[in-house]
Amino acid sequence: MAESIRVKVKCHACGNEIRGTAKYGSGHYVAEGVPFEFIATGKIESDKGRRVKGEVVCICPSCTVKNKFQI
Ligand SMILES: [Zn+2]
Repeated sequence: MAESIRVKVKCHACGNEIRGTAKYGSGHYVAEGVPFEFIATGKIESDKGRRVKGEVVCICPSCTVKNKFQI
């Protein structure tokens, strides 16, 4: 099943807060908020368990600049 990753970031260009979900994995997924593209780059192991690490790319709905974030 697809996992949705919640993203809350600030646009690099205009400072607008962008919220949305990015999809990780295959399967059914319903997006919320601003659509994000997610690129997995690794995993973080902690006492709380495993978490996927990666980059998200989205287009700011306010100024249309393409932003990239590490999450
Ligand atoms: Zn912006």
